[in-house]
Amino acid sequence: MQFKDVVGQKELKEKLVSTVRDGRVSHAQLFEGSMGYGGLPMALAYAQFISCRNRGDDSCGTCPSCIKYNKLIHPDLHFVFPVNTTKKIKDKPVSNDFLSQWREIIFERKYFTEQDWYEFIGIENKQGIISAYEADKILTKLSFKPFESDYKIMIVWLPERLNQTSANRLLKLIEEPPEHTVFLLVAENANRILPTIYSRTQRIRLQTLKEDDIVEALKKLNFTEQEIFTASRLSEGNYIRAIQSLQVSESAKLNLDNFMQFMRLSYKNDILGLMDWAEMMASSGRERQKSFLGFAERMVRENFILNKKIEDIVYLGFDELEWARKFSAFINDRNVAELYKQLNICIPQISQNGNAKIIFTDLALKVKELIRGKN
Ligand SMILES: [Zn+2]
Repeated sequence: MQFKDVVGQKELKEKLVSTVRDGRVSHAQLFEGSMGYGGLPMALAYAQFISCRNRGDDSCGTCPSCIKYNKLIHPDLHFVFPVNTTKKIKDKPVSNDFLSQWREIIFERKYFTEQDWYEFIGIENKQGIISAYEADKILTKLSFKPFESDYKIMIVWLPERLNQTSANRLLKLIEEPPEHTVFLLVAENANRILPTIYSRTQRIRLQTLKEDDIVEALKKLNFTEQEIFTASRLSEGNYIRAIQSLQVSESAKLNLDNFMQFMRLSYKNDILGLMDWAEMMASSGRERQKSFLGFAERMVRENFILNKKIEDIVYLGFDELEWARKFSAFINDRNVAELYKQLNICIPQISQNGNAKIIFTDLALKVKELIRGKN
């Protein structure tokens, strides 16, 4: 990770660069702020900069140290983050057991929340912790001299998750640091950190991002100008929130496309088309299917209201409304209750791992009959 890969935060980047230039790299620093402001990517970019052999205003990205940093495999870079037991790792889980997934989520998303991480490693119903057992591993890792750099760097993500014992052990290390060691702590809720640790770190507060910086970063992704503008507006300076709102609108668009296709095929009495449609839905994953069914229910409800000309209480998006002005004629007193019921019974069936192909085929044929009945 280089500074150029971190969204915004220009002043902070300059400040961090100057600490290295002036030889004032403090041995324990705490990056503080919502994950969407970029604490983790910033700590990674800083660590890479400290270790780079050919740095300018940013790390070079191409020296032997940077090449290892790009892959997050530098021997002097260490990580600690909250974990818990999984189906595979049943006893005394530590960060090292999850290192390949940790690299993967950083490469894939760069910005992610604590909950994203737990879902990524499949412990979403549990709280991750940094255990005393982990603290012992930290001691071992830091007992060696740096292999290739001037410093060993230990990034501790979410020190809030240290328990009392592990926090005390880490505290000892911060109080009497091993030579040539830099601790970069990345926290979201500083008031949940042991005060004795907090008071011994140099604090770096991450500010909310500027809207322009978020727009700039989103432009590299595949979205329209309007979508980017809306997402950055809704983000409140938080990059993760901006991404989440784009994902929501993407999923809504997909649902609308699938629903319109479903209704067109039903109206045309296109049985083969409906079979293909059902197969496409069946192959799309349970969460996607549930999202679609919930969306379809809402569309039936809203179109019925529109048909009754009670437009004031219609909650449709712009694209949805445009289409619904014509389509709503097909949702009426005769079929609305039954359409709603047919969609509604599919949701628990999908949740309980029913055969999606059978469920969607059955749904398609029933809905077709209901749509085609005399209006
Ligand atoms: Zn370099």
